[in-house]
Formats: sequence, C-alpha cells, structure tokens
Amino acid sequence: MSHFDIIVIGAGPGGYAAALLASQRRKTVALIERQHLGGTCLNWGCIPTKLYLGATAHLEGLHAQSRLRLCRGSVQMDMGALKKRKNAFVAATHKAMGCCLEKHGVALVQGQASLIDKNTVRVASDAEQTLSFTTLIIATGSSTNWFAGLEPDHARILDSTDLLDLDEAPASLAVIGAGAIGLEMAEFWNRMGTAIHVIEAAPRIAPAEDEEIAQTLSGMLKRKKWNIVTGKRVAGLVNEGESVLVRLEDGTQIRVEKALVAVGRKPNTPGLGLDNAGVAMTGAGWVTTDDFLRTTPNIYAIGDVNGRTLLAHAAEHQGRYAVLHALGETAAPYTPGPIPGCIYGSIEVMRAGHTAAELAAQGKTVTVSRASLGANPISQAHGQAQGLVKVAWVDGVVHGVTAVGHGASHLVTLAEIMVRDRWTAHTAHEHIFAHPTLDEALRDALIAPQEEK
Ligand code: FAD
Repeated sequence: MSHFDIIVIGAGPGGYAAALLASQRRKTVALIERQHLGGTCLNWGCIPTKLYLGATAHLEGLHAQSRLRLCRGSVQMDMGALKKRKNAFVAATHKAMGCCLEKHGVALVQGQASLIDKNTVRVASDAEQTLSFTTLIIATGSSTNWFAGLEPDHARILDSTDLLDLDEAPASLAVIGAGAIGLEMAEFWNRMGTAIHVIEAAPRIAPAEDEEIAQTLSGMLKRKKWNIVTGKRVAGLVNEGESVLVRLEDGTQIRVEKALVAVGRKPNTPGLGLDNAGVAMTGAGWVTTDDFLRTTPNIYAIGDVNGRTLLAHAAEHQGRYAVLHALGETAAPYTPGPIPGCIYGSIEVMRAGHTAAELAAQGKTVTVSRASLGANPISQAHGQAQGLVKVAWVDGVVHGVTAVGHGASHLVTLAEIMVRDRWTAHTAHEHIFAHPTLDEALRDALIAPQEEK
C-alpha cells in the first residue's frame, strides 16, 4: 500500500489548487479523480458557460449599436463550430493540467475514492488500489439538484450539463430557478435566438442579491422580452414528446421546447464512506467543518462539498488554506474576507461584501449611496447605459459594493479591495480613477450622498 503525506479527493478547482501547493511544499501528494481534471468548473460550469457567453458577446454589442441606428444587418453564430471549440478548449486544458501535475510530482490516480478508515482510502477502477495518508482533503464538489416533479429526463427536461451539450438552439426555453446558473444559461441561448421564460419561486430573480439590484436586472431583462415569473413554484414538468409542459402551482401552464432545472446543487458525498472515518455531515449531506475547514483532526473538506460558498474561487482559496494549515504554516482560523461573486451576461451583476439588507439583519445601522451607470462614458460608448452601483455603509466604512449593468463584472476585484480595506468616502477622494473607465462609477457611488437604507 502506498503512503502519501497528503491525499486529495477531487480534481476540481479546490482539489487541484491544494494538490499543487502541497507538492510545491515538497510533500508526497496523490490526487484522486473519478472523471475529468478541472471538475465542474472546467467541464460543466464556469469555463464552458463563459466560453459560450464570450463568443456571443459581440452579438449583444452589435444589437446595442443597431438600437442606436449605427449599424444594421445580422451575424449568424455556428453552434456546431462553437461547441467544437468549447470541447477542444476543455480537452486542451485537461492536457495542460495533467502536464502541470506531472511536472510537480503529484500522483494522479484515476477512479472513485471511498474511505476505509481515518487513514486509508480505496480507489475503485480497473485495478483497485488502497492508499494511506497522513492528511486527507475532501474536495469532491457538488452536482445538479432537483425537487420532486422536476427531475431531468435529459431529453427535454435538462440540467445545466445537458444544456451545455445541445447541438442547436431550442425555439423556447423555460428556466426553473433564477440564480446565476439559470440566468447565465438563459442569456446565452437568448443570444442564439431562443425565447426565454424564467420561473422563480422567490419574490424576485437573483434572490441572493440586493433587492434594488435584482429588480433593476429584472426590468432590463424584461425589456429584452424575457418572460419573468416570480413568486410562483413549478409543480411539475411533463415531457409531452414534442414539447415540455411547465405546470405552475397556481394552475398556469407554459409550453416550451426545452426546460432547464437550475434549482440548486447537492453535495458529492454519497458512496464516499465518510462514516468509516467519523466525518460528520448535515442532513442534506454537506460535510460539516470547523473554523479550520477540518472535519476530523486530519481530514479537511474544502470547496462546494462543505456547502459554505459554491464558487470556484472560494474552493481554490479554501484548498490552499487547508494545505497551509495542515503543514503548520498558519494556525489562524479560516476567515476569507469578502467573497466576490458575479452573474455574467450582457447585463451583469457583481457583489463584494454584504448587501444593505444583510447588514441590517445583523442589527447594524446601515446607510447606502448610489451612482447611475447612465452618466458613465464607457457605458454610454457601449450603448448600454442602464444600471447602477450601490454601496452599503456602516459607521462611514464600506461594508458592501454591488452593481448591475453592462460590464459590471469588471468592477468586482476593485469592489472587493474597497470592502476588504475598509474604504471610506475619503479614501475614494485620495485615489485617481482613470478616465474614462467603468471604475469611475465605483468612485461616484462612494462619494455620493449617503441615505438611510
Ligand atoms: P468540483 O469542481 O465539483 O470538483 C469536484 C471533483 O471531484 C469532480 O471532478 C468530481 O468528479 C470529483 N469527485 C467527486 N466524488 C469523487 C470520488 N468519490 N472519487 C473521486 N473523485 C470524485 N463558480 C464561479 O466561481 N464562477 C462561475 O462563473 C461559475 N459558473 C458556474 C456555471 C455552472 C453552469 C455551474 C454548474 C457552476 C458554476 N460555478 C461557478 C461553480 C463552480 O463550478 C464550483 O463552485 C466549483 O467547481 C467547485 O469546485 P470544487 O473543487 O469544490 O468541486
């Protein structure tokens, strides 16, 4: 039986980052993966969605200019070629990641891992192996989830993975669940000519975001002729052969060519044998972790599987922390600071830190300030000058920055710095913001008068 200082299960962004860092610290490392290097992010998540959105961004840009009567005509995307490029890009990245692991001396073990006890893991593949470890990092991620009545049949009732594999645009698509995944998918297929229906049980789309930002987004999407239904649950989805019938709880029915179920994720913990090592889980199966991302003294759980933050950059950050903690390079609890997040598309949402409502719910006295993107020269130049930047303040210090509008995701890193470094309005006056940039809207929001939430 081979022994490793650190074994990582799952080669998504979290597990990959952890394995590389541990090998750079000259530890013996094995990385176990049952499918493809890159996990959800590279194969069925962040990367393919952004590749599709990036390839079609200019269509939206030209639309905006044609609304200003500055151009006319049409451009056709070749879906077959686009899918081929996406697959080739993903395959090339698999290869590059494999080379990088080899160069760093990480043993890549292909197969399904399950724990035998608190120091041993079995890997099921053509040739079963048993490996032992000093430290284990569980980075097995998450998978698409659904509720009763909404189960994907992978023919017409699809999950996000199926939708990324379509060969041609459906005439119409019902998106059940208006979080980032649902909205980004809807955006891409809408650019390809698909009519969009979004159905969200919460009172608004993008329910995790600031209410004003989400309402602004909704208004902008409705102007693109999206049918947005909020505050209503989908009772069932029926594949009727030629179409899908979407039945809402209030009796309303919508008929579409295809439906996407994007109602959340579930942890990849079944079959992992966690009980054998005393690893605790929540009722829904997320791995429970302490302040150091540990689940037992020598086992960490990082990334989606611990259910803290379902984002690739959070997984990576946690993966690196777990290695540093295991090697004694940090003894501090895991405190990530503001975690930036975006919804991508022609109209984007970004957020760093807390929303005003979240801060108020913590009992804080909150003020807000805003700047419209309408006056920003870069937004104007793109012919897409709607949207706003909004800042949430506590005691004169920035606690959250969020924005909605064209290109808003480009603001997210500076917004994260503003929150993390506890900017005040005075700090914004001290910095020179290049002109013309979208960043100027951040400054304008910071120096705008503050009002009660
Ligand atoms: P994963 O990436 O899920 O990787 C886990 C790996 O573990 C998988 O490769 C799996 O095969 C492997 N595994 C599981 N069980 C076992 C086992 N028993 N044995 C061996 N291997 C196992 N996040 C962003 O930050 N930005 C985005 O723009 C973004 N867009 C997204 C779009 C979509 C459509 C989706 C679905 C997700 C998106 N995400 C995005 C989320 C992001 O993909 C995840 O948060 C991220 O991939 C989580 O990383 P992870 O390392 O925790 O797990």
